[in-house]
Amino acid sequence: MERYWNEEIECMSREDMKKLQDERLVKQVKHVYENVPYYRNLMDEKGVTPEDIKSTEDLHKLPFLTKSDLRDAYPYGLLAKPLSECVRIQSTSGTTGRRVVAFYTQNDIDLWEDCCARAITAVGGTNEDVCQVCYGYGLFTGGPGLNGGSHKVGCLTLPMSSGNTERQIQFMRDLQSTILCCTPSYAAYIGETLHDMGYTTDDIKLKAGIFGAEPWTEEMRRSIEKSLGIKAYDIYGLTETSGPGVSFECSEQTGMHINEDHFIPEIINPETEEVLPDGETGELVFTSITKEAFPLLRYRTRDLCVLTRKKCSCGRTLIKMSKPMGRSDDMLIIRGVNVFPSQIETVLIEQGYTPNYLIEVDRVNNTDTLDISVEMNPEQVSGDVRDSEKSLAVAIKTMLGISPKVHLVEPKSITRSEGKAVRVIDRRKLHD
Ligand code: ADP
Ligand code: ZN
Repeated sequence: MERYWNEEIECMSREDMKKLQDERLVKQVKHVYENVPYYRNLMDEKGVTPEDIKSTEDLHKLPFLTKSDLRDAYPYGLLAKPLSECVRIQSTSGTTGRRVVAFYTQNDIDLWEDCCARAITAVGGTNEDVCQVCYGYGLFTGGPGLNGGSHKVGCLTLPMSSGNTERQIQFMRDLQSTILCCTPSYAAYIGETLHDMGYTTDDIKLKAGIFGAEPWTEEMRRSIEKSLGIKAYDIYGLTETSGPGVSFECSEQTGMHINEDHFIPEIINPETEEVLPDGETGELVFTSITKEAFPLLRYRTRDLCVLTRKKCSCGRTLIKMSKPMGRSDDMLIIRGVNVFPSQIETVLIEQGYTPNYLIEVDRVNNTDTLDISVEMNPEQVSGDVRDSEKSLAVAIKTMLGISPKVHLVEPKSITRSEGKAVRVIDRRKLHD
Protein backbone atom coordinates (compact mmCIF):
# COMPACT_ATOMS: atom_id res chain seq x y z
CA MET A 1 0.00 0.00 0.00
CA GLU A 2 1.35 3.39 -1.00
CA ARG A 3 1.92 5.79 1.89
CA TYR A 4 1.78 9.55 1.66
CA TRP A 5 3.15 12.19 3.97
CA ASN A 6 0.52 14.71 2.92
CA GLU A 7 -2.14 12.94 0.89
CA GLU A 8 -4.27 16.04 0.43
CA ILE A 9 -1.45 17.82 -1.40
CA GLU A 10 0.28 14.88 -3.05
CA CYS A 11 -2.96 13.57 -4.56
CA MET A 12 -4.68 16.92 -5.09
CA SER A 13 -6.77 17.39 -8.24
CA ARG A 14 -5.11 19.35 -11.03
CA GLU A 15 -7.71 22.05 -10.67
CA ASP A 16 -7.15 22.58 -6.96
CA MET A 17 -3.38 22.51 -7.36
CA LYS A 18 -3.55 25.16 -10.06
CA LYS A 19 -5.70 27.33 -7.82
CA LEU A 20 -3.22 26.97 -4.98
CA GLN A 21 -0.32 27.79 -7.29
CA ASP A 22 -2.11 30.82 -8.74
CA GLU A 23 -2.77 32.26 -5.29
CA ARG A 24 0.72 31.62 -4.03
CA LEU A 25 2.40 32.95 -7.17
CA VAL A 26 0.53 36.26 -7.08
CA LYS A 27 1.48 36.73 -3.43
CA GLN A 28 5.08 35.69 -4.01
CA VAL A 29 5.67 38.06 -6.94
CA LYS A 30 4.43 40.92 -4.82
CA HIS A 31 6.69 39.89 -1.93
CA VAL A 32 9.73 39.72 -4.20
CA TYR A 33 8.97 42.97 -6.03
CA GLU A 34 8.61 44.85 -2.77
CA ASN A 35 11.61 43.36 -0.99
CA VAL A 36 14.25 42.45 -3.57
CA PRO A 37 15.51 45.53 -5.47
CA TYR A 38 17.68 43.29 -7.69
CA TYR A 39 14.66 41.42 -9.07
CA ARG A 40 12.48 44.54 -9.10
CA ASN A 41 15.02 46.08 -11.49
CA LEU A 42 14.84 43.03 -13.75
CA MET A 43 11.04 43.28 -13.78
CA ASP A 44 11.17 47.02 -14.44
CA GLU A 45 13.58 46.46 -17.34
CA LYS A 46 11.10 43.97 -18.80
CA GLY A 47 8.20 46.32 -18.15
CA VAL A 48 6.39 43.82 -15.89
CA THR A 49 4.60 44.82 -12.70
CA PRO A 50 3.18 42.55 -9.98
CA GLU A 51 -0.32 43.44 -11.26
CA ASP A 52 0.52 41.75 -14.57
CA ILE A 53 0.84 38.39 -12.80
CA LYS A 54 -2.64 37.10 -12.09
CA SER A 55 -2.08 33.35 -12.45
CA THR A 56 0.44 30.72 -13.55
CA GLU A 57 -0.49 31.52 -17.16
CA ASP A 58 1.36 34.81 -16.68
CA LEU A 59 4.53 33.14 -15.42
CA HIS A 60 6.24 33.52 -18.80
CA LYS A 61 6.13 37.32 -18.43
CA LEU A 62 8.61 37.25 -15.56
CA PRO A 63 12.36 37.59 -16.15
CA PHE A 64 14.66 34.60 -15.62
CA LEU A 65 17.28 34.37 -12.91
CA THR A 66 20.55 32.56 -13.55
CA LYS A 67 23.46 31.39 -11.46
CA SER A 68 25.38 34.45 -12.59
CA ASP A 69 22.66 36.69 -11.11
CA LEU A 70 23.17 34.81 -7.86
CA ARG A 71 26.88 35.49 -8.03
CA ASP A 72 26.35 39.16 -8.87
CA ALA A 73 23.95 39.55 -5.98
CA TYR A 74 26.18 37.63 -3.53
CA PRO A 75 25.73 37.55 -0.60
CA TYR A 76 22.61 39.55 0.34
CA GLY A 77 21.29 40.90 -2.98
CA LEU A 78 18.41 38.43 -3.33
CA LEU A 79 17.42 38.30 0.29
CA ALA A 80 13.71 39.07 0.76
CA LYS A 81 13.48 39.11 4.55
CA PRO A 82 15.40 41.03 7.21
CA LEU A 83 18.36 39.06 8.56
CA SER A 84 16.69 39.14 11.98
CA GLU A 85 14.07 36.74 10.57
CA CYS A 86 16.61 34.38 9.00
CA VAL A 87 17.88 31.44 11.01
CA ARG A 88 20.22 29.54 8.67
CA ILE A 89 22.31 29.62 5.53
CA GLN A 90 23.31 26.71 3.30
CA SER A 91 25.64 26.82 0.36
CA THR A 92 26.09 25.05 -2.97
CA SER A 93 28.86 22.51 -3.33
CA GLY A 94 30.56 24.79 -5.81
CA THR A 95 30.66 22.01 -8.43
CA THR A 96 30.58 24.55 -11.25
CA GLY A 97 32.23 27.63 -9.83
CA ARG A 98 31.87 30.06 -6.98
CA ARG A 99 29.60 29.03 -4.16
CA VAL A 100 26.11 30.43 -3.83
CA VAL A 101 24.64 31.17 -0.40
CA ALA A 102 20.93 30.66 0.32
CA PHE A 103 19.03 31.96 3.36
CA TYR A 104 16.20 30.36 5.34
CA THR A 105 13.59 31.56 7.80
CA GLN A 106 12.32 28.98 10.30
CA ASN A 107 9.28 28.54 8.09
CA ASP A 108 11.50 27.89 5.04
CA ILE A 109 13.29 25.15 7.00
CA ASP A 110 9.98 23.59 8.06
CA LEU A 111 8.67 23.46 4.51
CA TRP A 112 11.96 22.07 3.19
CA GLU A 113 12.04 19.32 5.83
CA ASP A 114 8.42 18.59 5.01
CA CYS A 115 9.39 17.98 1.37
CA CYS A 116 12.08 15.56 2.55
CA ALA A 117 9.54 13.82 4.79
CA ARG A 118 7.39 13.24 1.68
CA ALA A 119 10.39 11.61 0.00
CA ILE A 120 11.12 9.33 2.96
CA THR A 121 7.46 8.32 3.25
CA ALA A 122 7.33 7.59 -0.48
CA VAL A 123 10.02 4.91 -0.11
CA GLY A 124 8.03 3.30 2.70
CA GLY A 125 9.61 5.14 5.64
CA THR A 126 7.68 5.34 8.95
CA ASN A 127 8.50 5.92 12.60
CA GLU A 128 9.53 2.24 12.75
CA ASP A 129 12.48 2.91 10.45
CA VAL A 130 16.15 3.57 11.14
CA CYS A 131 17.36 6.18 8.69
CA GLN A 132 21.12 6.47 8.15
CA VAL A 133 21.99 9.84 6.63
CA CYS A 134 25.42 9.79 4.99
CA TYR A 135 25.09 12.92 2.92
CA GLY A 136 27.54 15.55 4.09
CA TYR A 137 26.36 17.74 6.97
CA GLY A 138 27.30 21.39 7.14
CA LEU A 139 26.95 23.89 4.33
CA PHE A 140 25.86 21.18 1.89
CA THR A 141 22.07 20.76 1.92
CA GLY A 142 22.04 16.95 1.68
CA GLY A 143 22.69 16.08 5.32
CA PRO A 144 20.56 18.76 7.01
CA GLY A 145 17.63 18.27 4.59
CA LEU A 146 17.26 14.51 4.94
CA ASN A 147 18.05 14.73 8.66
CA GLY A 148 15.12 17.11 9.14
CA GLY A 149 12.82 14.98 6.99
CA SER A 150 13.77 11.86 8.90
CA HIS A 151 12.97 13.55 12.23
CA LYS A 152 9.57 14.66 10.92
CA VAL A 153 8.69 11.14 9.86
CA GLY A 154 9.85 9.95 13.26
CA CYS A 155 12.54 7.57 12.03
CA LEU A 156 15.43 6.87 14.36
CA THR A 157 17.93 9.14 12.65
CA LEU A 158 21.64 8.32 12.34
CA PRO A 159 23.37 11.63 11.48
CA MET A 160 26.48 9.96 10.11
CA SER A 161 27.54 12.53 7.51
CA SER A 162 29.84 11.17 4.78
CA GLY A 163 33.12 9.34 5.16
CA ASN A 164 34.61 6.67 7.42
CA THR A 165 32.95 3.95 5.39
CA GLU A 166 33.79 1.00 7.64
CA ARG A 167 32.18 2.81 10.55
CA GLN A 168 29.11 3.45 8.36
CA ILE A 169 28.81 -0.29 7.88
CA GLN A 170 29.36 -1.03 11.55
CA PHE A 171 26.52 1.32 12.52
CA MET A 172 24.36 0.00 9.70
CA ARG A 173 24.75 -3.49 11.16
CA ASP A 174 24.65 -2.66 14.87
CA LEU A 175 21.65 -0.34 14.67
CA GLN A 176 19.95 -2.21 11.83
CA SER A 177 19.46 0.73 9.51
CA THR A 178 16.59 0.26 7.09
CA ILE A 179 16.92 3.41 4.95
CA LEU A 180 20.16 4.81 3.56
CA CYS A 181 20.49 8.40 2.32
CA CYS A 182 23.62 9.49 0.41
CA THR A 183 24.89 10.24 -3.08
CA PRO A 184 24.62 7.32 -5.51
CA SER A 185 28.38 7.23 -5.93
CA TYR A 186 28.80 6.90 -2.17
CA ALA A 187 26.10 4.21 -2.06
CA ALA A 188 28.11 2.24 -4.61
CA TYR A 189 31.21 2.64 -2.47
CA ILE A 190 29.37 1.57 0.70
CA GLY A 191 28.13 -1.52 -1.16
CA GLU A 192 31.62 -2.34 -2.34
CA THR A 193 33.05 -1.92 1.18
CA LEU A 194 30.32 -4.10 2.68
CA HIS A 195 31.37 -6.98 0.44
CA ASP A 196 35.10 -6.26 0.95
CA MET A 197 34.53 -6.58 4.69
CA GLY A 198 33.22 -10.08 4.06
CA TYR A 199 29.53 -9.35 4.54
CA THR A 200 26.59 -9.96 2.25
CA THR A 201 23.19 -8.32 1.98
CA ASP A 202 21.96 -10.91 4.53
CA ASP A 203 24.06 -9.18 7.16
CA ILE A 204 22.19 -5.86 6.90
CA LYS A 205 18.56 -4.79 7.21
CA LEU A 206 18.48 -2.03 4.59
CA LYS A 207 15.36 -1.97 2.42
CA ALA A 208 15.54 1.37 0.63
CA GLY A 209 17.97 4.06 -0.38
CA ILE A 210 17.32 7.73 -1.19
CA PHE A 211 20.09 8.80 -3.52
CA GLY A 212 20.60 12.10 -5.28
CA ALA A 213 22.66 15.29 -5.57
CA GLU A 214 24.39 14.05 -8.73
CA PRO A 215 23.37 12.42 -12.02
CA TRP A 216 23.20 8.61 -12.06
CA THR A 217 22.03 6.15 -14.63
CA GLU A 218 19.46 3.33 -14.53
CA GLU A 219 22.38 0.90 -14.85
CA MET A 220 23.93 2.41 -11.74
CA ARG A 221 20.58 2.04 -9.97
CA ARG A 222 20.44 -1.67 -10.73
CA SER A 223 24.04 -2.16 -9.66
CA ILE A 224 23.45 -0.44 -6.28
CA GLU A 225 20.17 -2.29 -5.73
CA LYS A 226 21.97 -5.58 -6.21
CA SER A 227 24.98 -4.80 -4.09
CA LEU A 228 22.98 -3.50 -1.11
CA GLY A 229 19.87 -5.67 -1.58
CA ILE A 230 17.54 -2.66 -1.61
CA LYS A 231 15.29 -0.55 -3.79
CA ALA A 232 17.14 2.60 -4.82
CA TYR A 233 15.12 5.80 -5.21
CA ASP A 234 16.11 9.10 -6.74
CA ILE A 235 15.76 12.49 -5.04
CA TYR A 236 16.47 15.87 -6.60
CA GLY A 237 17.00 19.38 -5.41
CA LEU A 238 19.35 22.32 -5.37
CA THR A 239 20.49 24.78 -2.76
CA GLU A 240 18.96 27.68 -4.66
CA THR A 241 15.44 26.29 -4.20
CA SER A 242 16.04 24.84 -0.69
CA GLY A 243 17.92 21.57 -1.15
CA PRO A 244 16.95 17.91 -1.66
CA GLY A 245 13.23 17.23 -1.80
CA VAL A 246 12.24 19.54 -4.64
CA SER A 247 11.22 16.24 -6.24
CA PHE A 248 11.30 12.59 -5.17
CA GLU A 249 10.65 9.14 -6.53
CA CYS A 250 7.71 6.91 -5.61
CA SER A 251 7.21 3.13 -5.83
CA GLU A 252 6.93 3.31 -9.63
CA GLN A 253 10.57 4.47 -9.94
CA THR A 254 9.97 6.17 -13.28
CA GLY A 255 10.85 9.75 -12.49
CA MET A 256 10.43 12.14 -9.59
CA HIS A 257 7.26 13.89 -8.42
CA ILE A 258 7.82 17.63 -8.06
CA ASN A 259 6.42 19.27 -4.93
CA GLU A 260 4.31 21.61 -7.03
CA ASP A 261 2.68 23.28 -4.06
CA HIS A 262 6.10 24.88 -3.44
CA PHE A 263 7.86 24.87 -6.82
CA ILE A 264 6.36 25.59 -10.23
CA PRO A 265 8.44 23.89 -12.93
CA GLU A 266 8.88 24.94 -16.54
CA ILE A 267 11.00 23.46 -19.30
CA ILE A 268 12.69 25.89 -21.70
CA ASN A 269 14.93 25.73 -24.71
CA PRO A 270 18.24 26.83 -23.14
CA GLU A 271 19.27 28.72 -26.27
CA THR A 272 16.09 30.57 -27.19
CA GLU A 273 14.52 30.62 -23.68
CA GLU A 274 11.24 29.56 -25.29
CA VAL A 275 8.92 27.58 -22.98
CA LEU A 276 8.54 23.99 -24.22
CA PRO A 277 5.47 21.74 -23.85
CA ASP A 278 5.47 18.75 -21.45
CA GLY A 279 7.27 15.81 -22.99
CA GLU A 280 10.09 17.81 -24.56
CA THR A 281 13.62 17.80 -23.22
CA GLY A 282 15.01 21.11 -22.08
CA GLU A 283 16.32 23.12 -19.18
CA LEU A 284 14.39 22.96 -15.95
CA VAL A 285 13.27 26.30 -14.49
CA PHE A 286 11.77 26.69 -11.01
CA THR A 287 9.68 29.36 -9.36
CA SER A 288 9.56 29.05 -5.56
CA ILE A 289 6.09 30.10 -4.43
CA THR A 290 6.39 29.56 -0.69
CA LYS A 291 9.95 30.48 0.22
CA GLU A 292 10.24 33.59 2.35
CA ALA A 293 13.91 34.46 2.74
CA PHE A 294 15.32 33.44 -0.65
CA PRO A 295 12.44 33.20 -3.10
CA LEU A 296 13.82 32.75 -6.59
CA LEU A 297 11.43 33.35 -9.49
CA ARG A 298 12.04 31.55 -12.79
CA TYR A 299 15.44 30.25 -11.72
CA ARG A 300 17.31 28.48 -14.53
CA THR A 301 18.78 25.29 -13.04
CA ARG A 302 20.78 24.29 -16.13
CA ASP A 303 19.59 20.73 -15.47
CA LEU A 304 18.22 19.01 -18.56
CA CYS A 305 15.14 16.81 -18.26
CA VAL A 306 11.56 16.12 -19.37
CA LEU A 307 8.27 16.78 -17.51
CA THR A 308 5.29 14.45 -17.72
CA ARG A 309 1.73 14.49 -16.41
CA LYS A 310 1.14 10.83 -17.23
CA LYS A 311 -0.92 9.19 -14.49
CA CYS A 312 1.29 7.53 -11.90
CA SER A 313 0.41 4.19 -10.31
CA CYS A 314 1.29 5.53 -6.84
CA GLY A 315 -1.76 7.78 -6.88
CA ARG A 316 0.17 11.03 -6.64
CA THR A 317 -0.97 13.71 -9.05
CA LEU A 318 2.18 15.83 -8.73
CA ILE A 319 3.90 16.34 -12.08
CA LYS A 320 6.96 14.14 -12.71
CA MET A 321 10.41 15.02 -14.00
CA SER A 322 12.76 12.52 -15.58
CA LYS A 323 16.18 11.85 -14.11
CA PRO A 324 18.27 14.84 -15.17
CA MET A 325 20.87 13.47 -17.57
CA GLY A 326 23.30 16.13 -16.43
CA ARG A 327 23.58 19.86 -16.48
CA SER A 328 23.85 21.73 -19.72
CA ASP A 329 27.36 22.64 -18.58
CA ASP A 330 28.28 18.98 -17.83
CA MET A 331 27.95 18.32 -21.52
CA LEU A 332 31.31 17.90 -23.18
CA ILE A 333 31.75 18.84 -26.80
CA ILE A 334 34.43 16.51 -28.10
CA ARG A 335 35.42 16.76 -31.76
CA GLY A 336 32.12 18.53 -32.35
CA VAL A 337 30.05 15.77 -30.77
CA ASN A 338 27.90 16.31 -27.65
CA VAL A 339 28.88 13.85 -24.94
CA PHE A 340 27.30 13.35 -21.52
CA PRO A 341 29.34 11.44 -18.93
CA SER A 342 26.15 9.51 -18.11
CA GLN A 343 26.20 7.94 -21.60
CA ILE A 344 29.65 6.54 -20.90
CA GLU A 345 28.54 5.24 -17.50
CA THR A 346 25.65 3.40 -19.15
CA VAL A 347 28.00 1.51 -21.48
CA LEU A 348 30.51 0.69 -18.75
CA ILE A 349 27.99 -0.88 -16.41
CA GLU A 350 26.22 -2.69 -19.26
CA GLN A 351 29.55 -4.23 -20.19
CA GLY A 352 30.09 -5.51 -16.65
CA TYR A 353 32.49 -2.88 -15.36
CA THR A 354 32.28 -1.00 -12.08
CA PRO A 355 31.03 2.59 -11.87
CA ASN A 356 34.61 3.58 -11.03
CA TYR A 357 35.94 5.52 -13.96
CA LEU A 358 37.59 8.77 -14.95
CA ILE A 359 37.03 10.69 -18.17
CA GLU A 360 39.89 12.91 -19.33
CA VAL A 361 39.54 15.31 -22.21
CA ASP A 362 42.40 17.25 -23.70
CA ARG A 363 43.46 18.88 -26.95
CA VAL A 364 46.60 17.71 -28.72
CA ASN A 365 47.67 19.27 -32.03
CA ASN A 366 44.27 20.94 -32.33
CA THR A 367 42.42 17.66 -31.98
CA ASP A 368 40.31 16.74 -28.97
CA THR A 369 41.33 13.59 -27.16
CA LEU A 370 39.09 11.41 -25.00
CA ASP A 371 40.72 9.04 -22.52
CA ILE A 372 38.61 6.85 -20.29
CA SER A 373 40.21 4.98 -17.40
CA VAL A 374 38.01 2.18 -16.13
CA GLU A 375 38.60 -0.09 -13.19
CA MET A 376 38.50 -3.81 -13.77
CA ASN A 377 36.69 -6.19 -11.44
CA PRO A 378 39.12 -8.62 -9.79
CA GLU A 379 37.91 -11.44 -12.09
CA GLN A 380 38.60 -9.33 -15.19
CA VAL A 381 42.28 -8.92 -14.32
CA SER A 382 43.30 -12.36 -15.54
CA GLY A 383 41.66 -11.90 -18.99
CA ASP A 384 43.19 -10.39 -22.10
CA VAL A 385 43.25 -6.73 -21.10
CA ARG A 386 44.10 -5.40 -24.58
CA ASP A 387 41.16 -7.25 -26.09
CA SER A 388 38.79 -6.00 -23.40
CA GLU A 389 40.00 -2.43 -23.91
CA LYS A 390 39.35 -2.70 -27.61
CA SER A 391 35.86 -4.10 -27.30
CA LEU A 392 34.93 -1.52 -24.67
CA ALA A 393 36.20 1.25 -26.97
CA VAL A 394 34.00 -0.10 -29.76
CA ALA A 395 30.93 -0.19 -27.50
CA ILE A 396 31.55 3.41 -26.42
CA LYS A 397 32.08 4.52 -30.00
CA THR A 398 28.75 2.97 -30.94
CA MET A 399 27.07 5.01 -28.19
CA LEU A 400 28.86 8.32 -28.74
CA GLY A 401 29.89 8.32 -32.36
CA ILE A 402 33.51 9.11 -31.51
CA SER A 403 36.38 6.82 -30.54
CA PRO A 404 37.83 7.01 -27.05
CA LYS A 405 41.09 5.60 -25.79
CA VAL A 406 40.17 3.11 -23.08
CA HIS A 407 42.58 2.22 -20.27
CA LEU A 408 41.63 -0.66 -18.02
CA VAL A 409 43.23 -0.08 -14.65
CA GLU A 410 43.78 -2.15 -11.51
CA PRO A 411 40.87 -2.75 -9.14
CA LYS A 412 40.59 -0.02 -6.48
CA SER A 413 43.01 2.35 -8.21
CA ILE A 414 40.43 5.09 -8.85
CA THR A 415 39.58 7.33 -5.89
CA ARG A 416 36.14 6.59 -4.43
CA SER A 417 33.61 9.33 -3.83
CA GLU A 418 32.01 10.02 -0.46
CA GLY A 419 29.96 12.92 -1.80
CA LYS A 420 29.51 14.21 -5.32
CA ALA A 421 31.79 12.21 -7.60
CA VAL A 422 34.26 14.02 -9.86
CA ARG A 423 34.44 11.89 -12.98
CA VAL A 424 35.54 14.35 -15.64
CA ILE A 425 38.76 16.28 -16.05
CA ASP A 426 38.68 18.64 -18.99
CA ARG A 427 42.24 19.89 -19.51
CA ARG A 428 41.28 21.94 -22.56
CA LYS A 429 40.05 24.62 -20.17
CA LEU A 430 43.59 25.01 -18.85
CA HIS A 431 44.92 25.88 -22.32
CA ASP A 432 42.19 28.43 -23.08
P1 ADP B 1 26.24 22.58 -6.95
O1 ADP B 1 25.49 23.31 -8.02
O2 ADP B 1 27.46 23.32 -6.49
O3 ADP B 1 26.49 21.14 -7.23
P2 ADP B 1 24.07 21.81 -5.13
O4 ADP B 1 24.65 20.99 -4.04
O5 ADP B 1 22.99 22.74 -4.77
O6 ADP B 1 25.25 22.67 -5.73
O7 ADP B 1 23.61 20.81 -6.25
C1 ADP B 1 22.45 20.92 -7.03
C2 ADP B 1 22.65 20.26 -8.36
O8 ADP B 1 22.94 18.86 -8.18
C3 ADP B 1 21.43 20.26 -9.23
O9 ADP B 1 21.29 21.47 -9.93
C4 ADP B 1 21.72 19.09 -10.16
O10 ADP B 1 22.60 19.46 -11.21
C5 ADP B 1 22.43 18.10 -9.27
N1 ADP B 1 21.47 17.10 -8.78
C6 ADP B 1 20.81 17.09 -7.61
N2 ADP B 1 20.04 15.99 -7.49
C7 ADP B 1 20.18 15.28 -8.63
C8 ADP B 1 19.63 14.05 -9.14
N3 ADP B 1 18.79 13.31 -8.43
N4 ADP B 1 20.01 13.68 -10.38
C9 ADP B 1 20.87 14.42 -11.12
N5 ADP B 1 21.43 15.56 -10.70
C10 ADP B 1 21.09 16.00 -9.48
ZN1 ZN C 1 4.24 8.13 -8.42
